[in-house]
Amino acid sequence: MSAILIDGKAFAENLISRVSVAVNELDNIHNFKPGLAVVLVGENPASEVYVKNKVRQTEKSGMVSIEHRLSEKTTEKELLSLVKTLNEDDKIDGILVQLPLPKHINENSIINSISPSKDVDGFSIPNVGLLSTSGEGLIPCTPLGCLLLLQDHLGDLTGKNAVIIGRSNIVGKPMAQLLIKANCTVTIAHSKTKDLENECKKADILVAAVGRPHFVKKEWVKNGAVVIDVGINRLPPEGDKKGKLVGDVDFENVSEIASAITPVPGGVGPMTIACLLRNTVTASCKRRKINEPKM
Ligand code: NAD
Repeated sequence: MSAILIDGKAFAENLISRVSVAVNELDNIHNFKPGLAVVLVGENPASEVYVKNKVRQTEKSGMVSIEHRLSEKTTEKELLSLVKTLNEDDKIDGILVQLPLPKHINENSIINSISPSKDVDGFSIPNVGLLSTSGEGLIPCTPLGCLLLLQDHLGDLTGKNAVIIGRSNIVGKPMAQLLIKANCTVTIAHSKTKDLENECKKADILVAAVGRPHFVKKEWVKNGAVVIDVGINRLPPEGDKKGKLVGDVDFENVSEIASAITPVPGGVGPMTIACLLRNTVTASCKRRKINEPKM
């Protein structure tokens, strides 16, 4: 079998254009533009790229984009004070503090200082709690993007066996909650799982969020499974060429057995930004108690 390529890039572009229409509608009818503030502390090169993309796409969608770049030496107290200012700023609907933060700053304390109604990453305890109690909180962008791709490709997910490799707070755990809510039977595998290959073989839907290049092998994948590759790994440079970006799945071989698969790049990655923009529009409507335009 040769797998269908799940084109996250095209899906994300489409979603961003629907978000732009929604932003325009909010401006015309309710006279405001949703605003997203992105905060970057320090000079992590990968974070610089992510933030640049987020800012560019926010502006492109017609929203208000505010960027705060702070030095590596910023103290936790100073960052908490900036978050407080953004929480109180009525023009700001979404606040994203780019992770990882420098080691001297407690990430949990920063994440949980963001007002839950503006926490467009969905990482704060109230939003995590709402997700696990099937409530209406803001949902972490990467797992939300994976869910949208799966539903677009498979339709109703009821009864599917889903296996997620990885139990992080930002991908694995919220992904599991979303798939439980979508009526899947969910297994979370992780570094201490005893027979990973055997667990993976049971999956109709296999989500890999490990952070290891080419980790998931063809032999682990059930014939016809749908494979979502969340991993973003840079291989070592070849000569003077920058190393290639690859996922957690041995794409070339797994595509021979899966029925559908997301590529890296061009799969889950672009969905994360699209969902961030969607979450900002959602947050802006909820906070103002107005109906959210269809996106
Ligand atoms: P993480 O390091 O927090 O978690 C990795 C998980 O993999 C852990 O739960 C661990 O138990 C599991 N794991 C590690 N080794 C394992 C092994 N040998 N067998 C089974 N499980 C094992 O990482 P994360 O933040 O969840 O990110 C995972 C990957 O997804 C990374 O490559 C990251 O860059 C990528 N990512 C991509 C996006 C995106 O927008 N596409 C967003 C977030 C993360």
